Amino acid sequence: MAVENSVQVSVLGLGAMGSALAAALIEAGYPTTVWNRSPGKADGLVALGGKAAATAGDAVRDSQVVIACLLDDASVHEVLDPLAGDLAGRALINVTTTTPAQSRQSAVWAADAGIAYLDGGIMAVPHMIGRPESSILYSGSAEVFHEHRALLDLWGTSTYFGEDAGLASLYDLALLSGMYVMFAGFLHGAAMVAPAGITATEFGKAAAPWLTAMTGGFEGYAAVIDGGDYTVEGQQSLEFSDLTHIVAASADQGISTEVIGMVQQLIQRQIDAGHGKEGFARIIESIKQPA
Ligand code: NDP
Repeated sequence: MAVENSVQVSVLGLGAMGSALAAALIEAGYPTTVWNRSPGKADGLVALGGKAAATAGDAVRDSQVVIACLLDDASVHEVLDPLAGDLAGRALINVTTTTPAQSRQSAVWAADAGIAYLDGGIMAVPHMIGRPESSILYSGSAEVFHEHRALLDLWGTSTYFGEDAGLASLYDLALLSGMYVMFAGFLHGAAMVAPAGITATEFGKAAAPWLTAMTGGFEGYAAVIDGGDYTVEGQQSLEFSDLTHIVAASADQGISTEVIGMVQQLIQRQIDAGHGKEGFARIIESIKQPA
Protein backbone atom coordinates (compact mmCIF):
# COMPACT_ATOMS: atom_id res chain seq x y z
CA MET A 1 0.00 0.00 0.00
CA ALA A 2 1.23 3.51 -0.80
CA VAL A 3 2.64 5.50 2.12
CA GLU A 4 2.31 9.29 2.26
CA ASN A 5 5.74 10.88 2.05
CA SER A 6 6.23 14.59 2.50
CA VAL A 7 9.28 15.30 0.32
CA GLN A 8 8.26 16.83 -3.00
CA VAL A 9 10.31 15.31 -5.82
CA SER A 10 10.73 16.16 -9.52
CA VAL A 11 11.96 13.74 -12.16
CA LEU A 12 13.43 15.17 -15.38
CA GLY A 13 13.57 12.66 -18.23
CA LEU A 14 10.87 10.05 -18.73
CA GLY A 15 12.64 7.54 -20.92
CA ALA A 16 12.53 3.88 -19.96
CA MET A 17 14.61 4.44 -16.82
CA GLY A 18 13.30 7.83 -15.73
CA SER A 19 9.72 6.53 -15.99
CA ALA A 20 10.55 3.49 -13.82
CA LEU A 21 12.17 5.72 -11.17
CA ALA A 22 9.24 8.16 -11.19
CA ALA A 23 6.67 5.36 -11.01
CA ALA A 24 8.39 3.91 -7.92
CA LEU A 25 8.26 7.32 -6.21
CA ILE A 26 4.60 7.90 -7.04
CA GLU A 27 3.63 4.41 -5.92
CA ALA A 28 5.40 5.01 -2.59
CA GLY A 29 3.35 8.15 -2.05
CA TYR A 30 5.94 10.84 -2.84
CA PRO A 31 4.35 13.94 -4.38
CA THR A 32 6.10 13.72 -7.75
CA THR A 33 6.33 16.21 -10.61
CA VAL A 34 7.55 14.82 -13.91
CA TRP A 35 8.88 16.45 -17.05
CA ASN A 36 10.01 15.15 -20.43
CA ARG A 37 11.30 17.03 -23.47
CA SER A 38 8.87 15.32 -25.87
CA PRO A 39 5.20 15.30 -24.94
CA GLY A 40 3.18 12.18 -24.16
CA LYS A 41 5.61 10.33 -21.92
CA ALA A 42 4.14 11.75 -18.70
CA ASP A 43 0.61 10.45 -19.33
CA GLY A 44 1.04 7.05 -17.66
CA LEU A 45 2.71 8.64 -14.63
CA VAL A 46 -0.06 11.24 -14.31
CA ALA A 47 -2.56 8.36 -14.33
CA LEU A 48 -0.60 6.84 -11.43
CA GLY A 49 -0.87 10.10 -9.46
CA GLY A 50 2.08 12.19 -10.69
CA LYS A 51 1.89 15.80 -11.84
CA ALA A 52 3.19 16.80 -15.28
CA ALA A 53 5.19 20.04 -15.58
CA ALA A 54 5.07 21.97 -18.84
CA THR A 55 8.74 22.95 -18.66
CA ALA A 56 11.88 21.68 -16.95
CA GLY A 57 12.00 24.98 -15.06
CA ASP A 58 8.49 24.43 -13.68
CA ALA A 59 9.51 20.93 -12.55
CA VAL A 60 12.67 22.22 -10.84
CA ARG A 61 10.80 25.03 -9.05
CA ASP A 62 8.20 22.54 -7.78
CA SER A 63 10.58 20.44 -5.66
CA GLN A 64 13.36 20.45 -3.13
CA VAL A 65 14.72 17.24 -4.68
CA VAL A 66 15.33 17.11 -8.43
CA ILE A 67 16.24 13.86 -10.14
CA ALA A 68 17.82 13.97 -13.60
CA CYS A 69 17.62 10.80 -15.68
CA LEU A 70 18.44 12.05 -19.16
CA LEU A 71 20.35 10.46 -22.00
CA ASP A 72 23.88 11.66 -21.30
CA ASP A 73 25.97 14.44 -19.81
CA ALA A 74 25.35 16.78 -22.76
CA SER A 75 21.57 16.50 -22.38
CA VAL A 76 21.82 17.09 -18.61
CA HIS A 77 23.70 20.34 -19.16
CA GLU A 78 21.50 21.38 -22.06
CA VAL A 79 18.49 21.14 -19.74
CA LEU A 80 20.01 22.22 -16.41
CA ASP A 81 22.58 24.91 -17.21
CA PRO A 82 19.91 27.54 -17.94
CA LEU A 83 18.18 26.52 -14.68
CA ALA A 84 21.19 26.83 -12.35
CA GLY A 85 19.62 29.80 -10.58
CA ASP A 86 16.39 27.88 -9.95
CA LEU A 87 18.30 24.83 -8.74
CA ALA A 88 20.30 26.83 -6.18
CA GLY A 89 19.49 25.65 -2.66
CA ARG A 90 17.93 22.42 -3.91
CA ALA A 91 19.26 18.86 -4.08
CA LEU A 92 20.09 17.50 -7.52
CA ILE A 93 20.42 13.74 -7.89
CA ASN A 94 21.82 12.98 -11.32
CA VAL A 95 21.45 9.29 -12.21
CA THR A 96 22.21 9.83 -15.89
CA THR A 97 25.14 7.66 -17.04
CA THR A 98 28.24 9.85 -17.33
CA THR A 99 32.00 9.35 -17.19
CA PRO A 100 33.75 10.03 -13.85
CA ALA A 101 35.26 13.21 -15.31
CA GLN A 102 31.82 14.44 -16.40
CA SER A 103 30.39 13.65 -12.94
CA ARG A 104 33.18 15.63 -11.29
CA GLN A 105 32.64 18.55 -13.65
CA SER A 106 28.93 18.50 -12.84
CA ALA A 107 29.75 18.53 -9.11
CA VAL A 108 31.96 21.61 -9.61
CA TRP A 109 29.25 23.27 -11.70
CA ALA A 110 26.67 22.48 -8.99
CA ALA A 111 28.90 23.73 -6.16
CA ASP A 112 29.47 27.02 -8.00
CA ALA A 113 25.69 27.41 -8.36
CA GLY A 114 24.93 26.48 -4.72
CA ILE A 115 23.27 23.18 -5.66
CA ALA A 116 23.72 20.11 -3.41
CA TYR A 117 24.85 17.44 -5.88
CA LEU A 118 24.66 13.66 -5.67
CA ASP A 119 25.75 11.57 -8.65
CA GLY A 120 24.35 8.11 -9.30
CA GLY A 121 25.11 5.08 -11.44
CA ILE A 122 22.27 2.65 -12.03
CA MET A 123 23.25 -1.03 -12.11
CA ALA A 124 19.84 -2.29 -13.22
CA VAL A 125 17.44 -2.32 -16.13
CA PRO A 126 14.09 -0.53 -15.76
CA HIS A 127 12.01 -3.60 -14.83
CA MET A 128 14.40 -4.30 -11.93
CA ILE A 129 13.79 -0.90 -10.30
CA GLY A 130 12.29 -1.43 -6.84
CA ARG A 131 13.74 -4.90 -6.44
CA PRO A 132 16.65 -5.68 -4.08
CA GLU A 133 18.80 -6.95 -6.99
CA SER A 134 18.66 -3.46 -8.48
CA SER A 135 21.84 -1.76 -7.31
CA ILE A 136 22.35 2.00 -7.48
CA LEU A 137 25.73 3.51 -6.73
CA TYR A 138 26.12 7.04 -5.39
CA SER A 139 28.86 9.56 -4.70
CA GLY A 140 28.96 13.27 -4.08
CA SER A 141 27.05 15.05 -1.32
CA ALA A 142 26.85 12.82 1.79
CA GLU A 143 24.16 15.11 3.13
CA VAL A 144 21.88 14.52 0.14
CA PHE A 145 22.54 10.77 0.24
CA HIS A 146 21.73 10.41 3.93
CA GLU A 147 18.84 12.87 4.01
CA HIS A 148 17.09 11.20 1.08
CA ARG A 149 18.17 7.61 1.73
CA ALA A 150 14.57 6.39 2.16
CA LEU A 151 13.68 7.71 -1.29
CA LEU A 152 16.81 6.23 -2.90
CA ASP A 153 16.20 2.85 -1.28
CA LEU A 154 12.85 2.62 -3.07
CA TRP A 155 14.74 2.01 -6.31
CA GLY A 156 16.95 -0.82 -5.06
CA THR A 157 20.05 -1.34 -2.96
CA SER A 158 21.83 2.00 -2.48
CA THR A 159 25.59 2.17 -1.96
CA TYR A 160 27.48 5.38 -1.20
CA PHE A 161 31.17 5.70 -2.11
CA GLY A 162 32.07 9.11 -0.71
CA GLU A 163 32.24 12.81 -1.52
CA ASP A 164 34.20 12.40 -4.79
CA ALA A 165 31.31 12.69 -7.26
CA GLY A 166 33.20 10.64 -9.87
CA LEU A 167 33.42 7.45 -7.81
CA ALA A 168 29.92 6.11 -8.47
CA SER A 169 30.46 6.45 -12.19
CA LEU A 170 33.94 4.92 -11.94
CA TYR A 171 32.55 1.86 -10.13
CA ASP A 172 29.63 1.68 -12.57
CA LEU A 173 31.87 1.68 -15.64
CA ALA A 174 34.42 -0.69 -14.04
CA LEU A 175 31.65 -3.19 -13.26
CA LEU A 176 30.30 -2.85 -16.79
CA SER A 177 33.82 -3.47 -18.14
CA GLY A 178 33.89 -6.77 -16.27
CA MET A 179 30.45 -7.65 -17.58
CA TYR A 180 31.23 -6.90 -21.23
CA VAL A 181 34.49 -8.85 -21.21
CA MET A 182 32.70 -11.78 -19.58
CA PHE A 183 29.92 -11.66 -22.21
CA ALA A 184 32.55 -11.52 -24.96
CA GLY A 185 34.16 -14.60 -23.39
CA PHE A 186 30.84 -16.44 -23.36
CA LEU A 187 30.19 -15.45 -26.98
CA HIS A 188 33.70 -16.57 -27.97
CA GLY A 189 32.95 -19.97 -26.47
CA ALA A 190 29.59 -20.12 -28.24
CA ALA A 191 31.27 -19.25 -31.57
CA MET A 192 33.92 -21.89 -30.91
CA VAL A 193 31.45 -24.76 -30.45
CA ALA A 194 29.06 -23.59 -33.19
CA PRO A 195 30.92 -25.33 -36.08
CA ALA A 196 30.45 -28.60 -34.14
CA GLY A 197 26.68 -28.11 -34.39
CA ILE A 198 26.25 -27.01 -30.77
CA THR A 199 23.74 -24.22 -30.31
CA ALA A 200 24.42 -21.15 -28.20
CA THR A 201 21.52 -22.25 -25.97
CA GLU A 202 23.13 -25.62 -25.31
CA PHE A 203 26.50 -24.01 -24.68
CA GLY A 204 24.90 -21.47 -22.35
CA LYS A 205 23.60 -24.29 -20.13
CA ALA A 206 27.20 -25.34 -19.49
CA ALA A 207 28.66 -21.83 -19.42
CA ALA A 208 26.35 -20.29 -16.80
CA PRO A 209 27.18 -22.62 -13.88
CA TRP A 210 30.86 -22.74 -14.89
CA LEU A 211 31.30 -18.96 -15.00
CA THR A 212 29.22 -18.55 -11.84
CA ALA A 213 31.51 -21.01 -10.03
CA MET A 214 34.58 -19.17 -11.36
CA THR A 215 33.52 -15.91 -9.69
CA GLY A 216 34.55 -17.69 -6.48
CA GLY A 217 38.12 -17.00 -7.62
CA PHE A 218 37.79 -13.19 -7.40
CA GLU A 219 38.47 -13.08 -3.66
CA GLY A 220 41.73 -15.01 -3.94
CA TYR A 221 42.98 -12.92 -6.87
CA ALA A 222 42.02 -9.73 -5.05
CA ALA A 223 43.94 -10.82 -1.93
CA VAL A 224 47.05 -11.53 -4.03
CA ILE A 225 46.80 -8.18 -5.88
CA ASP A 226 46.21 -6.21 -2.68
CA GLY A 227 49.05 -8.12 -0.98
CA GLY A 228 51.29 -7.27 -3.94
CA ASP A 229 53.04 -10.71 -3.95
CA TYR A 230 52.44 -12.83 -7.04
CA THR A 231 54.89 -15.50 -5.80
CA VAL A 232 52.70 -16.72 -2.91
CA GLU A 233 52.32 -20.55 -2.87
CA GLY A 234 49.22 -22.07 -4.44
CA GLN A 235 48.74 -19.59 -7.31
CA GLN A 236 48.26 -20.89 -10.84
CA SER A 237 51.39 -19.70 -12.66
CA LEU A 238 51.41 -17.59 -15.81
CA GLU A 239 53.31 -20.35 -17.64
CA PHE A 240 50.62 -22.89 -16.62
CA SER A 241 47.98 -20.39 -17.80
CA ASP A 242 49.48 -20.21 -21.31
CA LEU A 243 46.52 -20.12 -23.72
CA THR A 244 48.32 -21.19 -26.91
CA HIS A 245 46.19 -24.34 -27.20
CA ILE A 246 42.94 -22.38 -26.79
CA VAL A 247 44.03 -19.81 -29.40
CA ALA A 248 45.00 -22.68 -31.76
CA ALA A 249 41.72 -24.54 -31.18
CA SER A 250 39.79 -21.34 -31.87
CA ALA A 251 41.66 -20.81 -35.14
CA ASP A 252 41.02 -24.48 -36.04
CA GLN A 253 37.29 -23.76 -35.64
CA GLY A 254 37.70 -20.97 -38.19
CA ILE A 255 36.76 -18.20 -35.76
CA SER A 256 38.42 -14.96 -34.69
CA THR A 257 41.06 -15.28 -32.00
CA GLU A 258 40.74 -11.62 -30.93
CA VAL A 259 38.95 -12.29 -27.62
CA ILE A 260 41.14 -15.11 -26.32
CA GLY A 261 44.22 -13.66 -28.02
CA MET A 262 43.78 -10.50 -25.97
CA VAL A 263 44.13 -12.49 -22.72
CA GLN A 264 47.04 -14.45 -24.14
CA GLN A 265 48.84 -11.18 -24.94
CA LEU A 266 48.40 -9.94 -21.37
CA ILE A 267 49.87 -13.23 -20.09
CA GLN A 268 52.72 -13.22 -22.62
CA ARG A 269 53.84 -9.70 -21.72
CA GLN A 270 54.39 -10.82 -18.11
CA ILE A 271 56.17 -14.04 -19.18
CA ASP A 272 58.41 -12.02 -21.52
CA ALA A 273 59.24 -9.71 -18.60
CA GLY A 274 60.49 -12.78 -16.68
CA HIS A 275 57.46 -13.44 -14.44
CA GLY A 276 56.33 -16.79 -15.90
CA LYS A 277 56.56 -18.64 -12.57
CA GLU A 278 54.36 -16.04 -10.85
CA GLY A 279 50.59 -16.12 -10.43
CA PHE A 280 47.94 -15.47 -13.10
CA ALA A 281 46.66 -12.40 -11.22
CA ARG A 282 49.87 -10.69 -12.38
CA ILE A 283 48.23 -9.94 -15.73
CA ILE A 284 46.75 -6.92 -13.94
CA GLU A 285 50.26 -5.45 -14.30
CA SER A 286 49.92 -5.75 -18.10
CA ILE A 287 46.54 -4.02 -17.89
CA LYS A 288 47.82 -1.22 -15.63
CA GLN A 289 50.74 -0.48 -17.96
CA PRO A 290 49.62 -0.22 -21.57
CA ALA A 291 52.04 -1.91 -24.03
P1 NDP B 1 15.89 6.58 -23.04
O1 NDP B 1 16.59 6.64 -24.35
O2 NDP B 1 14.71 5.69 -22.89
O3 NDP B 1 15.44 8.06 -22.62
C1 NDP B 1 16.31 9.16 -22.78
C2 NDP B 1 15.69 10.34 -22.10
O4 NDP B 1 16.55 11.46 -22.24
C3 NDP B 1 14.34 10.74 -22.71
O5 NDP B 1 13.53 11.24 -21.68
C4 NDP B 1 14.77 11.84 -23.68
O6 NDP B 1 13.73 12.73 -23.97
C5 NDP B 1 15.80 12.53 -22.83
N1 NDP B 1 16.69 13.36 -23.62
C6 NDP B 1 17.63 12.97 -24.52
N2 NDP B 1 18.28 14.02 -25.01
C7 NDP B 1 17.72 15.13 -24.44
C8 NDP B 1 17.97 16.51 -24.54
N3 NDP B 1 18.93 17.00 -25.32
N4 NDP B 1 17.20 17.33 -23.79
C9 NDP B 1 16.24 16.85 -22.98
N5 NDP B 1 15.95 15.55 -22.84
C10 NDP B 1 16.70 14.69 -23.55
O7 NDP B 1 17.01 6.25 -21.96
P2 NDP B 1 16.83 5.57 -20.53
O8 NDP B 1 15.68 6.16 -19.82
O9 NDP B 1 16.89 4.10 -20.69
O10 NDP B 1 18.20 6.00 -19.85
C11 NDP B 1 18.32 7.22 -19.15
C12 NDP B 1 19.66 7.19 -18.43
O11 NDP B 1 19.68 6.07 -17.55
C13 NDP B 1 20.85 7.05 -19.40
O12 NDP B 1 21.93 7.82 -18.98
C14 NDP B 1 21.16 5.57 -19.28
O13 NDP B 1 22.53 5.28 -19.55
C15 NDP B 1 20.84 5.30 -17.80
N6 NDP B 1 20.61 3.88 -17.56
C16 NDP B 1 19.64 3.21 -18.30
C17 NDP B 1 19.52 1.83 -18.15
C18 NDP B 1 18.50 1.07 -18.93
O14 NDP B 1 18.54 -0.16 -18.88
N7 NDP B 1 17.57 1.72 -19.62
C19 NDP B 1 20.39 1.09 -17.24
C20 NDP B 1 21.30 1.90 -16.48
C21 NDP B 1 21.42 3.23 -16.67
P3 NDP B 1 12.79 12.51 -25.28
O15 NDP B 1 11.72 11.56 -24.86
O16 NDP B 1 12.33 13.86 -25.59
O17 NDP B 1 13.69 11.93 -26.36
